[in-house]
Amino acid sequence: MENCLFCKIIAGEIPSAKVYEDEETYIFRDIEPKAKIHLLCVPKEHFASLSEMDDGRAALVGRMLKKIAALQTELGLSDGYRLVVNQGANAGQTVPHLHIHILGGEPLEWE
Ligand code: AMP
Ligand code: ZN
Repeated sequence: MENCLFCKIIAGEIPSAKVYEDEETYIFRDIEPKAKIHLLCVPKEHFASLSEMDDGRAALVGRMLKKIAALQTELGLSDGYRLVVNQGANAGQTVPHLHIHILGGEPLEWE
């Protein structure tokens, strides 16, 4: 996908702090962390949001969640973590390539 920031990061055209990669998933550090640990988990396949999901993409997102769970300790999140998926303007989504925010490394505010 041309002119997509995260596609460029996945392709290595824009530098990123990678923490995990496999054939379909890329995890890297958010450039403006909102917690001690703030990672972004993205599918290598470009699609903008959950509204563009089909059965194949739903299965892909399911595997992404399974990988995050399997990597919990390796990512420094053994005391817990929060996943956030911003969708659209009201949620403040700024990058139209589906991404799961992974937040942790410290107690997180909740209200
Ligand atoms: P969202 O607001 O949910 O679309 O999340 C986009 C996230 O991408 C924000 O938390 C940004 O800080 C992050 N971000 C933007 N540019 C970069 C970059 N070059 N490398 C890493 N994270 C980025
Ligand atoms: Zn993209």
